[in-house]
Amino acid sequence: MFLYKIEAAMSVVQIEGLIKHLLIKFFSDIQLPMPIVKIVNNTVPKWLGRCVYTHNANENRSVIEIQKSIANDEKTLDRVLCHELIHAVDFYKQFGHPEQGKENWDKYVTHRRLGFKSDGHGKEFQEWAAKINSVMGPDYVTEKSDTSYVIEVTKEYFLLVMPTSKGVEKYGWAWTVRPSTEQKSVIQSKIMEGGRLFMSKDGRWMSGAKIKKYGGMSVPTKDDGKQALKDIYTSGKDIKPNWPQTITKVSDFHKKMVNHYGPEMDHILKNDPLGVL
Ligand SMILES: [Zn+2]
Repeated sequence: MFLYKIEAAMSVVQIEGLIKHLLIKFFSDIQLPMPIVKIVNNTVPKWLGRCVYTHNANENRSVIEIQKSIANDEKTLDRVLCHELIHAVDFYKQFGHPEQGKENWDKYVTHRRLGFKSDGHGKEFQEWAAKINSVMGPDYVTEKSDTSYVIEVTKEYFLLVMPTSKGVEKYGWAWTVRPSTEQKSVIQSKIMEGGRLFMSKDGRWMSGAKIKKYGGMSVPTKDDGKQALKDIYTSGKDIKPNWPQTITKVSDFHKKMVNHYGPEMDHILKNDPLGVL
């Protein structure tokens, strides 16, 4: 008897099925060759889907890559596929023609070399998006609909939040999944400097800095991010780990003691260092 591990996420074949359905529904007047589908699994995805086009002598076809994290979220998957298919159609219209396509491709490559870049979300893209949105609802496909969803991360991870400077209500963050000995030490010292440690499942913070020695914190740029981080810091339920700290220098230790116990400790350490150490 064989045992199979059943994956809940959609398979490549199922995604191809969805694409065929979308091609009939929205792109029926274009004979788009079936794009190649790949499921990828980046730990910290910068995109949920993307369309990569390669033009060579044998084959001119788009490859649509989909993050595994959205492959079991049918609505997000559908929206991302719509977005990527617009890119695939655009590539096909520009470069798909047997003769004219090659010429256009060469022009495109020259343009890129000269530094002209198009992000692919111009007028044509907007027109296709409007067509799909008129059926599916406003903002079903947007310029950012391949990147802007909050990915639900099922696994909890450690989220360190701390004020960017003393007495200021601005917060930065860093994260890690499984803290190493060094990361544990960093977390302990950050907590002594006012940081708070949380467990989080919210994927958006995973785009920020990883916790590391001498590493910085990420700072939200948008208002909703700033507010969310402030809420976590001020009213989240933090955890207080008791991990060992690696003390490298006596001066570090001194600083940590002062941070922890206040300026009085500075006085005590200065006057009777041996007594405390
Ligand atoms: Zn795009």
